[in-house]
Amino acid sequence: MRDLEINGLTGEEETRRQYEYIEKARQYVAQKEKEAGRKLTCCVHTFGCQMNARDSEKLLGILTDIGYVETEDEHADFVIYNTCTVRENANNKVYGRLGYLSNFKKKNPHMMIALCGCMMQEPTVVEKIRKSYRFVDLVFGTHNIYKFAELLCNRMESDSMIIDIWKDTDKIVEDLPIRRKFSFKSGVNIMFGCNNFCSYCIVPYVRGRERSREPKDIIREIEGLVADGVCEVMLLGQNVNSYGKNLEQPVTFAELLREVNKIEGLKRIRFMTSHPKDLSDDLILAMKECDKVCKHMHLPLQSGSSRILKIMNRHYDKEQYLTIVKKLREAIPDIALTTDIIVGFPGETEEDFQETLEVVKQVEYDSAFTFIYSKRTGTPAAAMEDQCDPAEVKRHFDLLLKEVQQISAKKAMALEGKVMEVLAEEQNTQDASLITGRLSNNSVVHFPGTPDMIGKLFMVKLTECKGFYYLGEIAENA
Ligand code: SF4
Repeated sequence: MRDLEINGLTGEEETRRQYEYIEKARQYVAQKEKEAGRKLTCCVHTFGCQMNARDSEKLLGILTDIGYVETEDEHADFVIYNTCTVRENANNKVYGRLGYLSNFKKKNPHMMIALCGCMMQEPTVVEKIRKSYRFVDLVFGTHNIYKFAELLCNRMESDSMIIDIWKDTDKIVEDLPIRRKFSFKSGVNIMFGCNNFCSYCIVPYVRGRERSREPKDIIREIEGLVADGVCEVMLLGQNVNSYGKNLEQPVTFAELLREVNKIEGLKRIRFMTSHPKDLSDDLILAMKECDKVCKHMHLPLQSGSSRILKIMNRHYDKEQYLTIVKKLREAIPDIALTTDIIVGFPGETEEDFQETLEVVKQVEYDSAFTFIYSKRTGTPAAAMEDQCDPAEVKRHFDLLLKEVQQISAKKAMALEGKVMEVLAEEQNTQDASLITGRLSNNSVVHFPGTPDMIGKLFMVKLTECKGFYYLGEIAENA
């Protein structure tokens, strides 16, 4: 816990204060239950990334703690949309769904609707909701999510919409309730915000500047998770490679990984996202030496053209990126590399695109998320004049996708017939006799099994490669 002051309170005092609100909210919910003559339900709908998914677990933790019963159904008594604003059309989706929710609310006097997340950090969005979606009960942003119970109480005590948006914060409030989606794996925030200002990205404007959690708080949280049955953690941050720089006693991400690796009972460590500009030799060494760190690195390329990378404000060039890949492969030969690539960034020429294609062929990614550049209002790139011809962009996108898929299929095929460790994650949704799990390199494997195997590791023979996943059979318990 950082001893920072929040409105004159330390982090610990703020946590205690929020627990008082949780208790108060519990009484309000009990009262509502009595009026309704039944248990009340809640539905948390998450848009966007892993950070949002983890935030949603915190919201659900509080909602279930105060008495709501979780449901996936948006006819629930409390519906919260945890929004994303990375793409402009993501906002339209939320408005569309809100219209649909308003009809439910007319029929259910107990229903409450809350909106939070990145989209709410945009003043124009909040203004629109205030004016045109007056049936919404609660609006808050990314920086004050820990105040959810307090805001909920405020709404219960008022008869109008509560809006609480902060521009930024340097605060981290620990130890509030969390309801995990999976019993055996969990995301763990190690830092919040981003300092990089890539010219196409809205994140620094809506998630604020980088703030790292203290290593001891992270370790304590993971130890608690392991005691509760978790065997895999995903360390989360917008740029984990710059973890710890702003702590009073700076710690590197490599040092943190080594500490997490020592936690007894923990089996697997993943992390995301890694910015190439901050990826150190020390981190590569830590990945090689820490037996629990999965053999997978997601390393966003974005473009293979150094000229475009400069305009994107990525702070690395093609050669530096390829050098990192070479070092990673030398240190960990069987590491899986995945990436993100944007096609059609303003000003991208045929030559720039060919350079991207060249890097893809050279690196041979195990898989890649390819995106067509989408203009995001509020970012420098949106104001750039040289927006590309959509037909050309589509042609490039198709070429890139084809190349990526061919390489992925070839790489996946190379593991066919091997026996590898798989974490059993869930019962297969198409065939209940199968269990779906993941290899250390993040590939998916389906193999015969029963639900009691979920959360355990098995050695599985990859009998058949189906392109992007494998069919397998158990060789032995890991
Ligand atoms: S590193 Fe760049 S792309 Fe990633 S969140 Fe930060 S600004 Fe956005």
